[in-house]
Amino acid sequence: MTAATHSPSFPSEAESADAVLLGLDPEQREVATTLRGPVCVLAGAGTGKTRAITHRIAYGVRSGVLQPASVLAVTFTNRAAGEMRGRLRALGAGGVQARTFHSAALRQLQYFWPRAVGGELPRLVERKIQLVAEAGARCRVRLDRNELRDVTGEIEWAKVTQTVPGDYPAAAHKAGREAPRDAAEIAQIYSAYEQLKRDRVMIDFEDVLLLTVGILQDRHDIAETIRAQYQHFVVDEYQDVSPLQQRLLELWLGDRDDLCVVGDASQTIYSFTGATPDHLLDFRNRHPQATVVKLVRDYRSTPQVVHLANGLLGQARGRAADHRLELVSQREPGPEPVYAEYADEPAEAEGVARRIRDLIKSGVPAGEIAVLFRINAQSEVYEQALADAGVPYQLRGAERFFERQEVRRAIAELRSAARFGANDPLLDDVVELPAQVRAVLSANGWTPQPPAGSGAVRDQWESLAALVRLAEDFARARREVTLADLVVELDERAAAQHAPTVQGVTLASLHAAKGLEWDAVFLVGLTDGMLPITYAKSDDQIEEERRLLYVGVTRARLHLTLSWALARSPGGRASRRPSRFLNGLRPGSLGGGPRSTGGAGGIERGARRRHRGPVLCRVCGKTLNDAGEMKLMRCEDCPSDMDEGLYERLRDWRAEQAKSLGQPAYCVFTDKTLMAIAEAAPSDGGELAMISGVGGRKLERFGADVLAICAGQEPGEADGGDA
Ligand code: ATP
Ligand code: MG
Repeated sequence: MTAATHSPSFPSEAESADAVLLGLDPEQREVATTLRGPVCVLAGAGTGKTRAITHRIAYGVRSGVLQPASVLAVTFTNRAAGEMRGRLRALGAGGVQARTFHSAALRQLQYFWPRAVGGELPRLVERKIQLVAEAGARCRVRLDRNELRDVTGEIEWAKVTQTVPGDYPAAAHKAGREAPRDAAEIAQIYSAYEQLKRDRVMIDFEDVLLLTVGILQDRHDIAETIRAQYQHFVVDEYQDVSPLQQRLLELWLGDRDDLCVVGDASQTIYSFTGATPDHLLDFRNRHPQATVVKLVRDYRSTPQVVHLANGLLGQARGRAADHRLELVSQREPGPEPVYAEYADEPAEAEGVARRIRDLIKSGVPAGEIAVLFRINAQSEVYEQALADAGVPYQLRGAERFFERQEVRRAIAELRSAARFGANDPLLDDVVELPAQVRAVLSANGWTPQPPAGSGAVRDQWESLAALVRLAEDFARARREVTLADLVVELDERAAAQHAPTVQGVTLASLHAAKGLEWDAVFLVGLTDGMLPITYAKSDDQIEEERRLLYVGVTRARLHLTLSWALARSPGGRASRRPSRFLNGLRPGSLGGGPRSTGGAGGIERGARRRHRGPVLCRVCGKTLNDAGEMKLMRCEDCPSDMDEGLYERLRDWRAEQAKSLGQPAYCVFTDKTLMAIAEAAPSDGGELAMISGVGGRKLERFGADVLAICAGQEPGEADGGDA
């Protein structure tokens, strides 16, 4: 986006404000100029929602209607907030607060805590999962890794939906939550977890919002102070607001209604955490006098990309889908989306890396390319493939240490202090190296104790603390080292790691890609099981997965590639199918779409890899060595997508077989093979034969029974016909 420039002729305030409106279409302009009363923008991806609200704030500030300090803009991530602050500054509206709900609440809580409660704000819980494990132990419930993660998710869900432990079982049942354990047990762990926090004087991420809400509810004086400060509220990505965030927003507003919300129900991708598009869709009911604006012009993507996005939405079901808006691309036509099928995941990653290299060669900047995946564990194989192809990349949310801004800045300070030596006023009388480092970094924000809260400040502190530790270790390992020696050491370490990337390809999860855009987007790993992910079972969960794909598709401006691999690892069983969401959209799939011609829009088939590589876990991607795990094609403790009921039926059948044959059960099938069958649920002999441990003889002997059980029939009941 081009920043609005100030005209050198010092225009009047009104002229300068009007200049902000030039880059907007009539509907966007309506959003920008309706500065009073409730405004709701319902619009699809890439239609300029974020642009409209940024320009709205800038217009309000430049026209003198809004005081910068009285505006609070709420966005979804810290990154989006930072971006918005940058855009606002460029539009001449610096000084406006743009924050996430969490960071805005934390700031208010820190400020008002001494007055509302007294003393300092309690520390923030860092390892929540560990605390939940302890709470479980107190309740004499042992949770494995996955259960622990899921129970933690349930506690978070309960808190953002403002459900107390006692109400959890009923609420979870009503919301159709798939609780990992008995609901009463979870309620007990939840209660113990809350008690543990109280005992240790700690608060968690959700408490920050809950406590702010509590203080605003109980303390009218404090609520009034905050309301006197903020008079205008703007919320981006409103479709993913949680009930707790909504409550906070209402308390900030009080009985006023200068609120502008924008969102796209079709991009609701956080309902698993308790978020809901209902607040967006019901906005008109709550505010009958609201100005509602719909935007349909898509400025981001080509007609080809938009066509696919509309096609995806056309198949969507549910409340969000009932409010879908057909997008109309405003851009020149571009290339058709490319669908690419590969034999296995490393081949897919290699193929993607090759394409990316070609794009960069053809002039697309690396920073304008993204590879998006469903779960973070998928990133590793792409990191490797891009590194092998010599393509720079950056992982969203996980920057390399020496490339972090605060680390670079700190090293620059250390370098300068080393140069000035004893003449540096910071180092007056400080002789010992670690003490010198602490003195220099104190000026950069390092403190002996970590700051309260999580988020960016905490992350920066961690980086500086790591530098301090590094200096301490360095001084301990060698005698009489100077600051200059340390700087040389740091430079060497930085050089030994990857060369700093100025601009790299972005690797990110689909969830983290929300609101962002790139010239070229690669959506990878699009198999059934990954998207929709296996644990999405209910219709609502499946619809959320579909929206996730919609979010992915609509990130692309020009080039879009969708790919999948038929097997997890080289030489593995080609048991995977492309995502069902692409049916009818990708060439050659059921329900039409262009045929596979190999030309534009056709499916490209990646070459089968020549060498047989190691067998990788199909869940986490780790190399497998254990024979049993290789048979399962996943680590024992990685989540299984097995149909438990089917497994039980197979086991019962096996016991009977073993009895009648007078042989031990494993001679029929081993546990691992049985599990693999229950995971694959084969529908014909061909699929069954692909499973490791099912040889020709076993197929002949037991195949019909096993297939019948898999088809939900009684063994021996198979009709012999072709299923
Ligand atoms: P998302 O739903 O993905 O958050 P959005 O609706 O917020 O998308 P923006 O990010 O604001 O959309 O805009 C998408 C792209 O279109 C941006 O590059 C933006 O600069 C551009 N754009 C939006 N409106 C206009 C316009 N009126 N003229 C030119 N470009 C525009
Ligand atoms: Mg946006």
